Amino acid sequence: MYKSSKEAKEAILQAGQCLYQNGYVAANDGNITARMEDGSVWCTPTGVSKGFMTEDMLVRVNPDGRLLEGKNKVSSEILLHLAIYKQNPNLGGIVHAHGPGATAWASFGKPWELAISLDSALHLGTVPCAPFAVTGSSALAEGAAPYSKNHTAVFLEHHGSVTWGEDVRQALFRTEVLEQTFKIYANMRTFGEVRLLSQRQLDEIERIKTKYNIRCPRAKGRDR
Ligand SMILES: [Zn+2]
Repeated sequence: MYKSSKEAKEAILQAGQCLYQNGYVAANDGNITARMEDGSVWCTPTGVSKGFMTEDMLVRVNPDGRLLEGKNKVSSEILLHLAIYKQNPNLGGIVHAHGPGATAWASFGKPWELAISLDSALHLGTVPCAPFAVTGSSALAEGAAPYSKNHTAVFLEHHGSVTWGEDVRQALFRTEVLEQTFKIYANMRTFGEVRLLSQRQLDEIERIKTKYNIRCPRAKGRDR
């Protein structure tokens, strides 16, 4: 949660550059929001590249989506962001991206469940997939938002991913871990058989998750 608009807007601009430079969004894809302590939300506008934004492009809305500040039109995905904030009073940042790893996996319409690395098991666990709905629809918001309570990320079928956190940076880092996980997974498949973490290793990771208050269901490991 952000105390000042300056801080919130800087966090959005930085995350936008990172998403764009890493190829997690192309053209005008994706959107980023930052929630203020008063409940209002700073948001990326629709129709701009997230890699080339300036502060004056950002818009601020109230929790119902009414425009409070800014000259641009708010992101088409604002309903999704507001629905997630509504269900999670502690969240301060949300990132929606179209990364090539997450979007490819999202085409299957099924959850990601494999514990292939420490980071994926710790920060993502299992990641559900919300059914396909067009951009900006309330169906998309209603399909995805309920997963935000007990996960750190959700796929949008044939579309991309959404991650959230206590601030924009944590949400961004979760998008990064998601993309990194699919790079690692693709490499594992190139090198040989995919080997999962053991149950004992996952038990240890569960303890760390409790310590750091990371809420995501345990990923699937190997039996022995
Ligand atoms: Zn999108």
